[in-house]
Amino acid sequence: MQAANVSPEEIARFDKLAARWWDADGESRPLHDLNPVRLGYVAARMELRGARVADVGCGGGLLSEALARQGAQVTGIDLGEKVIEIARLHLHESELKVDYRMQSSAELAAAEPGSFDAVCCMELIEHVPDPAALVADLAAMVKPGGQVFMSTLNRTPAAFGAAILGAEYIMRMLPRGTHHYAQFLKPSELGRLLRHAGLQLEDVSGLGYNPLSRKAWISRITSINYLLSARKPA
Ligand code: SAH
Repeated sequence: MQAANVSPEEIARFDKLAARWWDADGESRPLHDLNPVRLGYVAARMELRGARVADVGCGGGLLSEALARQGAQVTGIDLGEKVIEIARLHLHESELKVDYRMQSSAELAAAEPGSFDAVCCMELIEHVPDPAALVADLAAMVKPGGQVFMSTLNRTPAAFGAAILGAEYIMRMLPRGTHHYAQFLKPSELGRLLRHAGLQLEDVSGLGYNPLSRKAWISRITSINYLLSARKPA
């Protein structure tokens, strides 16, 4: 089924990167570098062992595997056929178990409403045509009392400079056209979408990243990349 809330060009763009997704020095390099910090953010806020976690827009499965390694029972969904294939293949190497599905957030929310202890949605919302609908899907799939974790890019000149000019044009780290400035969301805007979906925002933290040293860290500065956690009232 073709989902409404998807840009086919976006899916094609990521599918092209699929074969090199697990190459820490390839185009997914920033995701590799950010991944331990994202995992740490989630792990600091919940017990992952035994928890049922959805990873929405999982790509090749960097975060899905990291969560599974901590003992979570992970369902990873993405609409990219190639990225899901790569994610599944990589399980042979990691010997972890993740339930990967080529499915939209709306389909998972309809199939398993209120089923996940936590829902992660990292670096996806800036790529969908209707961010409010995505957030509503995340809210629908999480259990009452469960948490939603997201990361994305802020809509600031600093983010434009770092994520588009810096990463795509100057360092050529990401393919040009990976990000569209107008689709970036400010934390206040994303906060409003979360509230409208019935979620309570609990934390917004900056995600610092130095692409030269390849170091990433949690920071107070949210002007470029940020992480947030929200909770569905019990
Ligand atoms: N969440 C992963 C991958 C981020 S890249 C991580 O942070 O490591 C963005 C991913 O979103 C790609 O794999 C792309 O295929 C997927 N994507 C883009 N639009 C989508 C949509 N509308 N629905 C589901 N996945 C989508």
